Amino acid sequence: IVTGASRGIGRAIAARLAADGRHVVAVSRSAGDLETLVGEIADAGGSAEFRTCDVGDGGEVSSLVESVAEAHGRLDILVNNAGVTRDGLLLRMSDEDFDTVLNVNLRSAFVACRAAARPMMRGKFGRIVNVGSVSGLTGNAGQANYAAAKAGLVGLTKTIAKELGAKGITANVIAPGFIETDMTAALPDAVREQVLPQIPLRRFGRVEDIAAAVAFATSDEAGYMTAQVLVVDGGLAT
Ligand code: NAP
Repeated sequence: IVTGASRGIGRAIAARLAADGRHVVAVSRSAGDLETLVGEIADAGGSAEFRTCDVGDGGEVSSLVESVAEAHGRLDILVNNAGVTRDGLLLRMSDEDFDTVLNVNLRSAFVACRAAARPMMRGKFGRIVNVGSVSGLTGNAGQANYAAAKAGLVGLTKTIAKELGAKGITANVIAPGFIETDMTAALPDAVREQVLPQIPLRRFGRVEDIAAAVAFATSDEAGYMTAQVLVVDGGLAT
């Protein structure tokens, strides 16, 4: 299961896992984009299906994970990637913008992991990846809600790793830096110009850079890596 698979980083993760031979269940709210993705994966010789789900709705997320596990008789990989921003300085941030971001970025991952735990435990195998952000590690002006949610994912993930490790389930965070997607296209040019010189590799990240890290963290070979935060940011946060 890959959430937030209709666009950006999630789409690249879904395509990459399918190219690696996984059967992918691509999830977001937009059926049209998901249908196109599933078609492209099939054209490339891969296997995928899609489900629409608003991950901000806990009931929908639980049922989605349970029904996928039931339909396939197993669940090997869960990538909680769906995310939103509602940026604003602390003094002007509304309760609603705080709650929305916490709900979609953090609570959704908690609910999905809880639902995935049982089928993964039954299979004695699981790879959970929660997509965090360098904002959650360093903080970022204008992102009190988003940084709190992404920092929360780190604590959630490390706890899950400790609780489920004995069952062959790993849980890790991949923390991207500045990646070219719709999310960052919305930022003013001035912000982009300010960030670029701070990236030692002198370029913004590509969605494939993150997909490659997720492919590793969810591979059979990554079985001894758990409770980690893998930062993929061109060196930005160091
Ligand atoms: P994006 O291009 O804006 O895509 C966001 C994805 O999340 C879309 O597929 C969207 O699908 C889905 N989504 C949003 N709200 C949803 C909801 N309520 N239910 C289900 N799906 C929902 O963002 P992105 O840049 O690829 O970001 C992906 C992840 O990486 C996010 O967690 C983000 O915080 C993280 N990240 C991104 C960057 C960056 O520089 N881009 C940096 C650090 C971390 P629908 O709208 O179709 O539902």
